Amino acid sequence: MFRENISKFVKVKCSGCNNEQNIFNKASTKVECLVCNKLLATPTGGKAKILGEIQS
Ligand SMILES: [Zn+2]
Repeated sequence: MFRENISKFVKVKCSGCNNEQNIFNKASTKVECLVCNKLLATPTGGKAKILGEIQS
């Protein structure tokens, strides 16, 4: 069973510029792409909502 409640970094591909960036899955602040400033994750009630494409 996949445990979603663990803290970890995930690699997310920006849908705007294809930049790959490691972001924390429990980010408490907005995370923007370092290249094009597109929003990649927004904080929710404890777990970040990932907006980009998660790379395995
Ligand atoms: Zn980008």
